[in-house]
Amino acid sequence: MSIDSPAAPKVGFVSLGCPKALVDSEQILTQLRAEGYETAKSYDGADLVIVNTCGFIDAAVQESLDAIGEALHENGKVIVTGCLGNKKDASGDDIIQKVHPKVLAVTGPHALGEVMDAVHTHLPKPHEPFIDLLPPQGIKLTPKHYAYLKISEGCNHRCSFCIIPSMRGDLVSRPIAEVMLEAENLFKAGVKELLVISQDTSAYGVDVKFRTGFWNGKPLKTHMTQLVGALGELAAQYGAWVRLHYVYPYPHVDDVIPLMNGGSVVPYLDVPLQHAHPDVLKRMKRPASGEKNIERIRAWRAMCPDITIRSTFIAGFPGETEEEFQYLLDFLQEAQIDRLGCFAYSPVEGATANALANSVPEEVREERRARVMQLQEEISKQRMQAKIGTTIRVLIDEIDRSGGIGRSVSDAPEIDGVVYVKPPFEPHRKLKVGEFVDAKVSSADAHDLWAAAE
Ligand code: SF4
Repeated sequence: MSIDSPAAPKVGFVSLGCPKALVDSEQILTQLRAEGYETAKSYDGADLVIVNTCGFIDAAVQESLDAIGEALHENGKVIVTGCLGNKKDASGDDIIQKVHPKVLAVTGPHALGEVMDAVHTHLPKPHEPFIDLLPPQGIKLTPKHYAYLKISEGCNHRCSFCIIPSMRGDLVSRPIAEVMLEAENLFKAGVKELLVISQDTSAYGVDVKFRTGFWNGKPLKTHMTQLVGALGELAAQYGAWVRLHYVYPYPHVDDVIPLMNGGSVVPYLDVPLQHAHPDVLKRMKRPASGEKNIERIRAWRAMCPDITIRSTFIAGFPGETEEEFQYLLDFLQEAQIDRLGCFAYSPVEGATANALANSVPEEVREERRARVMQLQEEISKQRMQAKIGTTIRVLIDEIDRSGGIGRSVSDAPEIDGVVYVKPPFEPHRKLKVGEFVDAKVSSADAHDLWAAAE
């Protein structure tokens, strides 16, 4: 019997949401394949459909509810998982059950066991599992040359604008040996860039008191610094990159920066700061809000002059005065952050920030967001211009008619800019997806670079 046997039950999958939700989807798909289920590419070819939802902002809730509605209409047998699964409306009722009472089962995020139980109930397991046909790195939804590595689930903080802890629970760090094994399997399968994700990467291991695990016979602490060091060494053996996301500016992050100097850990730090004014940060209940972020950024740049700093900010948080907002603009001018996203504050149902006094009118929130982005456009333009004439390493993501589109160490997939690469002059030399090339930068705008392969 082959895996293409018509007897194999088929599951359709719709994956929405952030990289953390994507990793949940990958785990479910891996388990389905391990148990002998097949995936279906269309609703009518599926015996059942799983929808992995996002519940963070209102637009994401609507997108998820629409996706469930479509799956119900097109197929009829639908299991829902993901962040929206744990969300209640103002009267305390489960949102999904209320809008779509016909769904077969609903779970929260990171609920592999519960999802599989629901699948087994509504679409019994095939008799012969095909465990040998499962690649050791599992099923990946990203292109073959990069992958997300989730090192922990949940979060111990309680930022007042965020409901993630109520949906995903407190921090649970994955054992370090398990994380390293997954990284090794991914590199062996051809991954050239590993993106480390979590809700709070700096907190890795706090929940297990930095327990010592073992990797390749050597002790290794469940701690961010040790993990990043070990991942960097492993990546070097495969000529690959490691990129760190969601890092809070705690003092121990300083120990990670030297690992970025010329090693496989790329000089890139995604630090969601959200604001600069101490009073706003206090109202936001941000982790590391007492840290002097400007000094920290200066120290990081002194240790690693090539570091790219990415961050996100919120404009118009409840109670934000014009002075507090101006403080943020002054901070941004001084910090010269390389990659920046700014959102106008938008209340999330169930967040404690909704109870804060002095909400900022919507048009002021939007206007402040635009002012941040206008300032950042100038900063980004200057920082990108400074790259003209330098040679940078680029990982090719796609090929188009004029060459390749890739990313440098300064660009994470999906959220940052890209590098348009002209192929080298050698005859018959074509760029390939997943290949690293060195390229000389010829021009730049505020987001992207244009370069010629050397
Ligand atoms: S650190 Fe704050 S914003 Fe991030 S997941 Fe935890 S509570 Fe939410």
